[in-house]
Amino acid sequence: MKLPGFESRPSQNAMVEAIESAMRADRILMVEAGTGTGKSLAYLTPAILHVAAEGQRTVVATHTLALQEQLWAKDLPWAMGDSPMSSAVLKGRGRYLCLLKLDEQKQDVTILNSPRPERYGLAQIITFGFWSVNGDIDEFNPRTDVVRRLWQNVVAERNACAGSRCAFAEPCFLRQSKRLAEASHIVVVNHALLATHLKQGGVLPAFTHLIIDEAHHFAEVMERTLGMELDIFNFVREFEEMDQGRQGLFQRLPQHADTLSGIDAVRRNMRVVTELLWQLNHELILQFPSTAETRSSMRVTSELWDRWQGETLGKILSHICQTLDEVVHQAHDVLAQAEAIWGDVVHEEVSWLRYGKWLTDIFELAQQLEEWGHPNQDWVSWWEVSRQTPQLTLRLKRAPLDVGNFLHSHLWDGLPSGVVTSATLSIRGNFEYYQNRLGIPKTRLETLSLPTPFDVPHMAQLLVPNDMPEVTQPAYASAVSDFTVAAASALGGRTLVLFTSYRMMHEVNRDIRGPLLDRNIQLLAQGIDGTGPRLVEQFRGHPSAVLMGTASLWEGVDIPGAQLSLVIIVRLPFANPMDPMEEAIRERLGRFAFNQHTLPQALLRFKQGFGRLLRTTTDKGAVVVLDPRILPNRTQYGRRFVATLPDPPMVSAPWPTIIQMIRQMSEST
Ligand code: SF4
Repeated sequence: MKLPGFESRPSQNAMVEAIESAMRADRILMVEAGTGTGKSLAYLTPAILHVAAEGQRTVVATHTLALQEQLWAKDLPWAMGDSPMSSAVLKGRGRYLCLLKLDEQKQDVTILNSPRPERYGLAQIITFGFWSVNGDIDEFNPRTDVVRRLWQNVVAERNACAGSRCAFAEPCFLRQSKRLAEASHIVVVNHALLATHLKQGGVLPAFTHLIIDEAHHFAEVMERTLGMELDIFNFVREFEEMDQGRQGLFQRLPQHADTLSGIDAVRRNMRVVTELLWQLNHELILQFPSTAETRSSMRVTSELWDRWQGETLGKILSHICQTLDEVVHQAHDVLAQAEAIWGDVVHEEVSWLRYGKWLTDIFELAQQLEEWGHPNQDWVSWWEVSRQTPQLTLRLKRAPLDVGNFLHSHLWDGLPSGVVTSATLSIRGNFEYYQNRLGIPKTRLETLSLPTPFDVPHMAQLLVPNDMPEVTQPAYASAVSDFTVAAASALGGRTLVLFTSYRMMHEVNRDIRGPLLDRNIQLLAQGIDGTGPRLVEQFRGHPSAVLMGTASLWEGVDIPGAQLSLVIIVRLPFANPMDPMEEAIRERLGRFAFNQHTLPQALLRFKQGFGRLLRTTTDKGAVVVLDPRILPNRTQYGRRFVATLPDPPMVSAPWPTIIQMIRQMSEST
């Protein structure tokens, strides 16, 4: 099968054929295809031809906005050519401007007395609402915090939408986008929207085929969507704004004698809840040992929960749940009274819509808090303290231990065909880890692992110093610092250093910043010098810099050319064993945990880290692994890490020799 102008590449052709056949045979295909395969065109082409022949709809879900934009702006128009097929992008509600809320803001005369930045910010949003075609925040791109905050007041929200009763139902951006998606053959969405659709239904138009790109993220997105996260500080601040703020919700509700006393009771009880939440916050923070890590988490185990009963923590939590229950009942009564007084206006007027949304949120919160305190074998509850922001932030979290069963029944069972693809899905052609996590039924599964289009043995080396201390020894961090300074000096920067722990990154940052500066090399450390994406952009444009980071940089760096010539992997990327989800998974899998979960997860992460080096066919460089556990004479699993890579030549030698090799590499590039 060929489209005009479609340049043939063997891997791409193999992928097109496999997808075509999976769509015809109602199969679910997992395809691993690395950078340079032309993956997106390889799935769009058969999808377009298939829906053209069958008149059905395909949904394409991506994780990142960058890929979504690439599909929409470049790949889809190219693949569709002059065909009569139609396509649309559908985003989450919160990305769209709500015209009803914007109208309410326009009518609000109090805005005239607000500070200049707020007045200007609102003027920008009003102007945007006038000229915008899609009403989408990505089109608007708010630049200041004030505008971003104002935007939150005018976004479309579930449970705060008048729907077909809305005075702006016809020009409504969200409804227009949905109508367009319903009339389209190809609909591009993100993972979060697909996950929301699977959780609550009715978000996406019906579809027959599904393509999930960047699929290694999807299980985590599904976990987050099904789970809960409560940021106590934000929750209390938002309520105080509603309660006391000049434009707060409770100030804006229409006044009526029959509803006023009910509203006052709701507000009084909510103030009790916020006070109790502060107490809970305080008690939970006290449970943490003080540690240098910027983030710490603790799991609510059944034993812990039993111990809390009769203690302050247990009492506070049950008091919060009881009071929230009362609030829900009182708030419902107020809404019923308002309906009796004002009739349908309650479903069309912004203040009451906001009130209804708030009530739904409180109802969900009451349920979730109740469940948070009662962990079971399928759900994990924990709390997390983050020290990165000016104040300590405490979040209560809850997530399902496994979304495989959910996806099996809510997605794959009813879906004629699916494609699950990513650059990292298998360990040497074995897809079992992600197949299980994504719940893909074995009976319908096809797999395809495409070889990398890069000539890795001639483009990359794997270098392992064989005289590093063990990772558990105190001397390890300073050895990492010394090696990084020596390697980056030999190359004049151009180095990415990947960590698995903030604590070690901070230690190394402290040690190497000065010595690198002395050599005119700039250090860009994630979370210290800026956020990951911002630092990646700085690194891209800097002739001699070292970029250091943790989690997101293992896969969020795409820098072709000599600008990135060396990747240093500080430790093999095993997940933090203290992480609540990891702990619960280990307990569930028992003696199989290491081979079925811990090791495959680390191998796939390692492969992603290695993949940062080669982005185009002309790239060259080296990946250094400092962790001695990769050496076959140190651990049994070390060789599995090496084997998961696409055969780069490996050299293990004392670190002065490795530095010498890096220097030679620098001279030849
Ligand atoms: S239909 Fe809903 S989202 Fe659209 S303008 Fe009306 S209230 Fe806002």
